[in-house]
Amino acid sequence: MLKFISVILLLFNMILPGRNPDGKKVYLIPIGDEVDPELVRELRLNLEEEFHQPFVIGSVIGLPSGAYVPTRRQYYSPAILSLLKRKFPKDASRVLGIVNHDLWVPGLNFIFGEADPEAKVAVISLIRLRQEFYHLPPDPELFFLRALKEAVHELGHTYGLPHCSDPNCVMHFSNSIADTDRKSAHFCPRCRRLLEEAIEREKER
Ligand SMILES: [Zn+2]
Ligand SMILES: [Zn+2]
Repeated sequence: MLKFISVILLLFNMILPGRNPDGKKVYLIPIGDEVDPELVRELRLNLEEEFHQPFVIGSVIGLPSGAYVPTRRQYYSPAILSLLKRKFPKDASRVLGIVNHDLWVPGLNFIFGEADPEAKVAVISLIRLRQEFYHLPPDPELFFLRALKEAVHELGHTYGLPHCSDPNCVMHFSNSIADTDRKSAHFCPRCRRLLEEAIEREKER
């Protein structure tokens, strides 16, 4: 009987390649109150397609007190990553936080997102992805595409992927919103291979 169940489970894993046999999921966690739940749901669907991994949406968590830098009117990104490490769900393989505030790390004026590949946590900011930020008319489709690119990029880092020199690859570094718009929401063949290898390694563990 047990053998029969094992065979069924094996078949199940073959039918759904990329699914983690340990049942771990990628968590999308909205941080703060102003993250549009509809956007997070759309992101989840698209990210599952890109990563072939199960994604879930976690409960909204509050912004960490003390992360706000009043002189810059920005949030200190590493403090948000620390919060995600503390709140890391037991059944999570990795966590992506989504904030509607501007993020900052010393040495840069702002960041679109940040990842800690060791801890498998990452964060993206939505604030500079809206056309309104650049005093342009709103473009919801462009906003969504930018958010998807940033989410795929930071999650890519949590799989150990470095920046890619291909300007069309989602792992290309975005210095400005023009860089984000230039690249696609997908991995180039080389990065795709690195990603698949990383997913395989995690399954073996
Ligand atoms: Zn990056
Ligand atoms: Zn690439």
